[in-house]
Amino acid sequence: MTLSPSTGVRGVARSEGACGTVCLDGVRLLGAEPTDVLVRDGVIAAVGARSESVGARQVDATGLVMLPAFVDLHTHLREPGAEEAETIASGTRAAAEGGYSDVFAMANCAPITDTPRRLTHIAAVAARTAACRVHPVGAITRGLAGRELAPLAEMAAAGARMFSDDGRCVTDAAVMRAALAEARRTGTVVAQHAQCDRLADAGQINAGPAAERTRLPPWPGVAEESIVARDAVLAGETGAALHVCHVSTAGTVEVVRWAKQRGLPVTAEVAPHHLVLDDSLAATGDTLYKVNPPLRGAGDVAALRAALADGTIDAVATDHAPHPAHRKAAEWCDAPFGMLGLETALAIVAEVLTACGAECGSEPDWALIADLMAHTPARIGGVAAVAGRSLRPGEPATFTLVDPAADWTVDPADSHSLSRNSPYAERKFRCRPITTVVSGTVTSDRAGLLTPR
Ligand SMILES: [Zn+2]
Repeated sequence: MTLSPSTGVRGVARSEGACGTVCLDGVRLLGAEPTDVLVRDGVIAAVGARSESVGARQVDATGLVMLPAFVDLHTHLREPGAEEAETIASGTRAAAEGGYSDVFAMANCAPITDTPRRLTHIAAVAARTAACRVHPVGAITRGLAGRELAPLAEMAAAGARMFSDDGRCVTDAAVMRAALAEARRTGTVVAQHAQCDRLADAGQINAGPAAERTRLPPWPGVAEESIVARDAVLAGETGAALHVCHVSTAGTVEVVRWAKQRGLPVTAEVAPHHLVLDDSLAATGDTLYKVNPPLRGAGDVAALRAALADGTIDAVATDHAPHPAHRKAAEWCDAPFGMLGLETALAIVAEVLTACGAECGSEPDWALIADLMAHTPARIGGVAAVAGRSLRPGEPATFTLVDPAADWTVDPADSHSLSRNSPYAERKFRCRPITTVVSGTVTSDRAGLLTPR
């Protein structure tokens, strides 16, 4: 079974139907001056060519920003095994609402995605129930146990493009080196959750003032940085593509910058929450702020923002990690790590990249957002043939329309996820995706723009 459809919308099972032939009037392509975009037969037929739009349904898209639909390299869909928290159907519905066309589903399910059969099972369920394309991630090691390599070549043959033990770190350097060598042979990428088990130990909260105030076990930044440095060296030696998951510290930014300067084949992602939340929130003891890696200090947040803007960080990935309320209601040490992310990612990235802050009304660099959330993650994940394409005539009509002045307030009760563990309740944001289309199929349409109701 092929997991990455070459064309069309196989894998998008739950949607609102084809948008037909439409002309988006006054839309701002990547935030540029208003133009018209004609969509026909699932592709972008023309840009700025009113004369060719005869017979098309005219849709007033004045003021909306058109971006390539987003690609999330880091999603926890929880199915199979924890369908109380999320299913492939609900998680991909949240993804579509957040402007995504593609998500990479992490392997820490139950059972763990560590065989070709389990990989194709997830793809088959997605083909029946998903609202966006799903790319199952294969485990690096059997059972995520960190000892014995999973059958990477077989999983690659079954369609896996990325391998990760996410949730756990491949701590053994020899195992990681073997995984990278296998990734090199199969043309795939290894995504590391960098957390030295010995240094992080049973860490629960960022080391420093937050850990001192709460007396919770500290999770120090060096536990991340030392693994990233080691893996970068191994990537250089093996020539394999290493992707660093959820960079959380200023020190890791420095390591990634060094690796890139050396020309090592290393890419890195940041999660939206690490760009806007810091460990002072975790120190309140509210488990909605418990996440792995932990929320870090204000200096780390500033370094991550700078790294996003200067290209040291390649992509934004949500680490969408749903958990049912009763589990998050436990004591801090018993509560699971993780927070929702798919429906708020764009709003956060836009806020962070808006030069003078959300208040002043200026807009972010939309082309940079397209790179960080669509083009580059598609390339890193090896799905650029179908996802994160440019918005040019002849390309698939796979895009999201963003209202740059939505001025909305997060209400977790409105989430399309089965879980409610968003740390942004009542937070106000400016930008919001309102319509998502995948190869001409409308997968979300909050305002009924393309599916009049
Ligand atoms: Zn992780």
